[in-house]
Amino acid sequence: MNLSAVIPTILGIPFDAQSSYLRGAAEAPTKIRQALACDASNHWTETGVDLGAAGIYEDGGDLEFLERDAFAAIENGADEIIRLGKRPVCLGGDHSITYPIVKAVARKYSGLTIFHFDAHPDLYDEFEGNRLSHACPFARIMEAGLAKRLVQVGIRTINRHQREQVQKFGVEVVEMSTLPAYDTLKAAGPIYITFDMDVLDPAFAPGISHREPGGMSVREAIAHLQAIEGEIVGADLVEFNPVRDVDGMTATVAAKILKEILGKMIAG
Ligand code: MN
Ligand code: MN
Repeated sequence: MNLSAVIPTILGIPFDAQSSYLRGAAEAPTKIRQALACDASNHWTETGVDLGAAGIYEDGGDLEFLERDAFAAIENGADEIIRLGKRPVCLGGDHSITYPIVKAVARKYSGLTIFHFDAHPDLYDEFEGNRLSHACPFARIMEAGLAKRLVQVGIRTINRHQREQVQKFGVEVVEMSTLPAYDTLKAAGPIYITFDMDVLDPAFAPGISHREPGGMSVREAIAHLQAIEGEIVGADLVEFNPVRDVDGMTATVAAKILKEILGKMIAG
């Protein structure tokens, strides 16, 4: 399959009901689109892709939660894009959305490698009694066998329980203290990218619910995204919380990260 011909399609997922600490991430898709369209910058990625060119990517708008089960709605939304022969690029929302999205992606693509950018491993078996919390998506994904490899980059909050989960599921963890990790970001099979905005240092991206100092600069994050080698079949960008933003700066950063992910998906 020539994936570069499979059009990336944005889907906003305004959902933050599985956030454990603060709501607000549901407002992110609108803010990211506004920043992406802002005249302060042009539409070219750093890698030379013109995102302003007609038909190079599509925007499917925001998901409407018609089903009573929000996760079923998210899975169906991603599934619909995939069945149309396109690649989902989902804008969260909190990180819980990655589980239903990856369910849909894994149905189409077996042997998935997930490159997961985050301050947190999100591997809790349950968090405050909730197995669908945004603290748990990668436990659900791994126990369901939806990914061949889970590679976590930028982690800096791992505790004893999650260290055990890493062992149990064979997760490849690249802790923030050991970056850069460019050589780790190569995969033979299909790749899914999940980018939690809190992988960035809160100095660069204060508009997040869980500020964890000591994170990546925007430059480090882009360098790691650009180092990815392989076929990217889908992506998400999650945990931007506009309620916590300062003068729209995190929206601008989220749009920049989105641009470079789209450029990477289009140009390979
Ligand atoms: Mn996360
Ligand atoms: Mn996080």
